[in-house]
Amino acid sequence: MNEKMRTVLCPRCGKSVVWSQANTFRPFCSERCKMIDLGAWAAEEYNLIAEEDQPLSEETNSTQH
Ligand SMILES: [Zn+2]
Repeated sequence: MNEKMRTVLCPRCGKSVVWSQANTFRPFCSERCKMIDLGAWAAEEYNLIAEEDQPLSEETNSTQH
């Protein structure tokens, strides 16, 4: 058993990733997960903009308990 192989979990998909200098995508498992994570940031910003653009729908007032 070689304990020097350190692994981390990809923050995106939870897959275990070998933490090595060769892995330029660390802590992600792949370029795709890294890009998805960066994309999620952009999508969040986009959502905020989209929400502001939406008209207030106070007519749907059917939330009665
Ligand atoms: Zn991943």
